[in-house]
Amino acid sequence: MNEDFAFLLPVVMGLFGAAFLIVARFGIRSSAYWGAGILSAALGFVVPLSIPALPVKPVAMTAEALFFAAFFLYGQALLVHFGRSTLFWQRLSLALLAYVVIAYVVIVAENLQLELFVSDLTCVILLATAVAAVRHRARRPIDKLLFWVMVFVCAENLLRVIVFLFLASPITMDQFAGSDYSFVMQITATVGAMVMAMTALAVMTVNVVERHRNDADSDSLTGLLNRRGFDRAAAGLLAGEAQDVALILFDIDHFKRINDDYGHAVGDEVIRSIAEVAAAVLPGGSILARFGGEEFVALLPNHTAARALDVAGRMQAAIRKKNWRNLGLEGGVTASFGIDALGRGDHSIYESIGRADGAMYEAKRTGRDRIVSAGGTTSPAAHPHLRIIRKQ
Ligand code: GH3
Ligand code: MG
Ligand code: MG
Repeated sequence: MNEDFAFLLPVVMGLFGAAFLIVARFGIRSSAYWGAGILSAALGFVVPLSIPALPVKPVAMTAEALFFAAFFLYGQALLVHFGRSTLFWQRLSLALLAYVVIAYVVIVAENLQLELFVSDLTCVILLATAVAAVRHRARRPIDKLLFWVMVFVCAENLLRVIVFLFLASPITMDQFAGSDYSFVMQITATVGAMVMAMTALAVMTVNVVERHRNDADSDSLTGLLNRRGFDRAAAGLLAGEAQDVALILFDIDHFKRINDDYGHAVGDEVIRSIAEVAAAVLPGGSILARFGGEEFVALLPNHTAARALDVAGRMQAAIRKKNWRNLGLEGGVTASFGIDALGRGDHSIYESIGRADGAMYEAKRTGRDRIVSAGGTTSPAAHPHLRIIRKQ
């Protein structure tokens, strides 16, 4: 391969490596592994090119160590990205063991063919074990793409292993470097490395964007959706196929007193606990958001107002049952609930929220710790009929 072109690959990989390390600074842990792996591989290519005057053996040993590190780290990046914490020690042991074998082959046996065979085989195994471990984890299209690109990288390395296995006559470094085979091998390795780096960088970038979007959509105290997140999630839910959608709005009773009597920090804990209790009671597929200080809203797909009323009843019971003394409170905590069913004539979800708010206000006005339903308001009635449903 042309010498100038040969330098291009490590330079481009170096740039990719740097990009990954920058992305890692946004808190994406797997990106640090990608960055370190790609930089390691880039150095692995640079070492034999930049110091041709050095003796062959130390150069070969250095390059092999860097390639092993690269493939170990690619696998680690995959495992971390897909949330699997297995195989670390097994893969590390394999890399170290293979390195001992390589040392024997390079220093004692001096067999280039065998060196390339053992080296590529080790790289394939280091990566393939990680790819196999994450095979069921790729859900998003971009993750699936990353998975299949990694399968391609494994296959491309495996092909090289197989070719070496069937290479009949022993070869020298000079014969190898000048061969058509070496040229084709470097082209496929280059394409594989570039496609892998670009795909992984795209995945990391998507992760950064998603993380920021999630942060912007969620409430830091409770981890629930905030109003912005609720708007987005509700739009998604309403665009779906849910037949009936009901809404529960609830607000902690006399919360100011809790703040005044026990301090703001305890108040925060109460808000967090109410969020936990509500989330545990809500059926799957529901959306729960913290709408203001100590006010929450839940959207229940495939629920009529009557069924939402049962859910609110269970929430009310769970809030009562909770041991609030653990937080240092002497008395209990209660909340007031307003319920509404989304009507076909509603122009926006805020019409329903408005009705639920009226119902909740009614619950407050008539003694708190109550559930009030705005009633069957299918038309956008200006003054919905309010009905106290439950006071246990
Ligand atoms: P009501 O039964 O009528 O709801 O009475 P209330 O005392 O709960 O009244 P209101 O809903 O108006 O009180 C809200 C209070 O919640 C006022 C505010 O100081 C407090 N608050 C708002 N956000 C937070 C928060 O994040 N943490 C804490 N600790 N308090 C908050
Ligand atoms: Mg309140
Ligand atoms: Mg309030």
